[in-house]
Amino acid sequence: MSADLVYDVIVVGAGVEGSASAENLSKRDGIRVLLLEQFPLPHSRGSSHGQTRITRRAYTDAFYTQMMDFCSKYWTRLQETSGQDIFRQVGYLAIGAIGGEFLKENIHCMTVNNAPYTLLQPQDFRRKYPMLRFADDIGGLLDPDGGVLMADKILLAMRKSFLSHGGTLRDGERLEQIVPGETIEVQTNKGRHRGKSLILCCGPWTNQVLAPLNLRLPLKPQRISVCYWRERESGSHSPQKLPTFLDDRCCDGHCIYGIPSLEYPGHVKLCLHYGPEIDAELRDVPNTDYVLRLLKDYVRDKFPGLEYEPSIVESCVYTLTPDCHFLLDRHPAWSNIVIGAGFSGHGFKLSPAVGKILADLALDVKTHDFDLTPFKLSRFGSANKANL
Ligand SMILES: Cc1cc2nc3c(=O)[nH]c(=O)nc-3n(C[C@H](O)[C@H](O)[C@H](O)COP(=O)(O)OP(=O)(O)OC[C@H]3O[C@@H](n4cnc5c(N)ncnc54)[C@H](O)[C@@H]3O)c2cc1C
Repeated sequence: MSADLVYDVIVVGAGVEGSASAENLSKRDGIRVLLLEQFPLPHSRGSSHGQTRITRRAYTDAFYTQMMDFCSKYWTRLQETSGQDIFRQVGYLAIGAIGGEFLKENIHCMTVNNAPYTLLQPQDFRRKYPMLRFADDIGGLLDPDGGVLMADKILLAMRKSFLSHGGTLRDGERLEQIVPGETIEVQTNKGRHRGKSLILCCGPWTNQVLAPLNLRLPLKPQRISVCYWRERESGSHSPQKLPTFLDDRCCDGHCIYGIPSLEYPGHVKLCLHYGPEIDAELRDVPNTDYVLRLLKDYVRDKFPGLEYEPSIVESCVYTLTPDCHFLLDRHPAWSNIVIGAGFSGHGFKLSPAVGKILADLALDVKTHDFDLTPFKLSRFGSANKANL
């Protein structure tokens, strides 16, 4: 590495949000980008690994539905340019009581964004999905554009595109120190780099990285048990019969979501949107009995066509904010340090928009595509800023 080289932007963290930011920057004329990742790639210690993620327009906040226009176009383009099968349009089903808040909010978001959907009354819901057992007042909103993103393939395709546009990727290289200034210096376990701006996308490690910059965010990393349940009858929960789904606050106040059997043959992915709080370095320790008990009871009652015990349990990490909205903003003291954090278990599908927003902030380009108000640091108040 040349001691004189000053990158336009250094991005720290090659999860999906850092990779999307770096790729977006690399496509802009004359912008030199360095992407740093602490682990050798690929790795499974953060939030972005695994084969599948749900994508959907149906949300309970209209600004996410609006952002999905941009993201859907990106996913289609990445599918074409990478030649990889990265998106399966199997639909998405929001499950809830007819007339209840959850479905009303989903309908509102789809309507104001002119997105197509079908509202399934309870009898239609039961007829269409005979493998499900729900109470008589439960129906669904079907989002036909939803489906499955193939996460590991996407990360690979994003990084490939980043490298092909001239970006520099250094994995197995951990950021250890940041010296802020007009030109920022970062010290890693392998050397020193300089950049005009810095984007931090460090997932559950965000507060460790921010501590020397006197900033502590209200982020809660949680360990999520990713469970796969075997079909009793082969093909009964295939993507032709069942879309991706989310059942709102159905399980001790937590949501359940899932993906039909397309990842491990004959297995439905079905998870609780909750897990024990962890330290990113100690995530394999916590007891998950509570989570598994809730999931097993749910499967027994609502998915009788699946075996009662999960046959595969993997793990992944969420990093939650108090309101479950992302944090996309500048450091309050150093405007050339940009933070993307707190993706709260729903950031994968939106990573193309996140990457554009963070790239615009780093280059000080005005973002007109999206309203950034919901993502501001100031919404957490001063309690989370230390010694600024
Ligand atoms: C089980 C599960 C299911 C999910 N399902 C969905 C879904 O269906 N749909 C959806 O849209 N979203 C979903 N999500 C959420 C989505 O996957 C996350 O929001 C997203 O992956 C967050 O990415 P990230 O880049 O912020 O974090 P990460 O993937 O954790 O990336 C952060 C990176 O920073 C690196 N790093 C940290 N510190 C340093 C350092 N000092 N130096 C260098 N590198 C460093 C880490 O090693 C890591 O690679 C799910 C998440 C989980 C866990």
